Amino acid sequence: RIIVIGSSNTDMVVRTEHFPQPGETVLGNEFLMNPGGKGANQAVAAARLGGNVVFICKIGDDLFGESSIKLLKEEGININHVLIDNQLPSGVALITIDKKGENNIVVAPGANAALSVENIKDLDTLISTDTLLLMQLEIPLNTVKQVVLDAYEKGAKIVLNPAPACELPEEIYQKLHLITPNEKEASMLTGIQVKDINSAKEAAEILIAKGVKNVVITLGAKGALAIFNGECLFTEAKVVNAIDTTAAGDVFNGALVVALNEGKHIKEALEFAVEASAISVTRLGAQSSAPYRNELESYQQK
Ligand code: ADP
Repeated sequence: RIIVIGSSNTDMVVRTEHFPQPGETVLGNEFLMNPGGKGANQAVAAARLGGNVVFICKIGDDLFGESSIKLLKEEGININHVLIDNQLPSGVALITIDKKGENNIVVAPGANAALSVENIKDLDTLISTDTLLLMQLEIPLNTVKQVVLDAYEKGAKIVLNPAPACELPEEIYQKLHLITPNEKEASMLTGIQVKDINSAKEAAEILIAKGVKNVVITLGAKGALAIFNGECLFTEAKVVNAIDTTAAGDVFNGALVVALNEGKHIKEALEFAVEASAISVTRLGAQSSAPYRNELESYQQK
């Protein structure tokens, strides 16, 4: 089973020709309101690809939270452990996308910022030695740290997608089965300017030296590099017409944990994740862009 602990947001998205400069107003095209948040996005990506997913997050007692959770349930995700904060609003993200498909994002975390380790005491009962626990950094860092330490003791394999970029407490590195930064996050964690395969390999080696068991660094349209069980591999990204890269990393992470949870070799798992994220960048939105297993399989047959 896969447990995802992380954020749930409502994304408010506008497409525009170019990003506004400070003080500038630009006119956008259509407005879209989509469920998002890295935690929820990764949970949805994993569930659509066939994962048995429990999702734990904290929402506000409001319509945004209610509607995003309803959608998660419709995806077949176990939402029995979702928490509701009585004071804070549900998280929102304000997103603009330019004509190249690049994005600019401001997140107002709301209830996500109040997800504490005390809230998830029943996690113990969910974890066993075949649990893959996937987390990101859109909930308090201290919660991530405590959960990592506790879940490791219980025998879970912990996958951390260290996004958005921030420095990590040194003691958690040794407890991580896998860390999955993108270029920016890998640069921030290692001090190496990650921009290509060689610099990614150098950064991955530093992360291994810090005590992480395995590393996958995503390199956007270039692909992904892994050091897994001591072996270094690179998988090229698929060449597609990218229109919105908003949740590329989220779909990649959701797909990667599904593949690993199914016992696939890292080479197959990377291919699976690269294909799933390639499909997602050809579509608008975050959760809405995540492919279903049958869509991925028909893509693979092409
Ligand atoms: P994040 O979304 O976290 O910044 P990346 O940009 O590294 O993460 O993207 C994650 C993965 O998504 C990449 O490793 C790649 O496989 C895929 N991907 C991202 N952008 C593109 C693109 N333009 N074309 C094809 N695949 C892409």
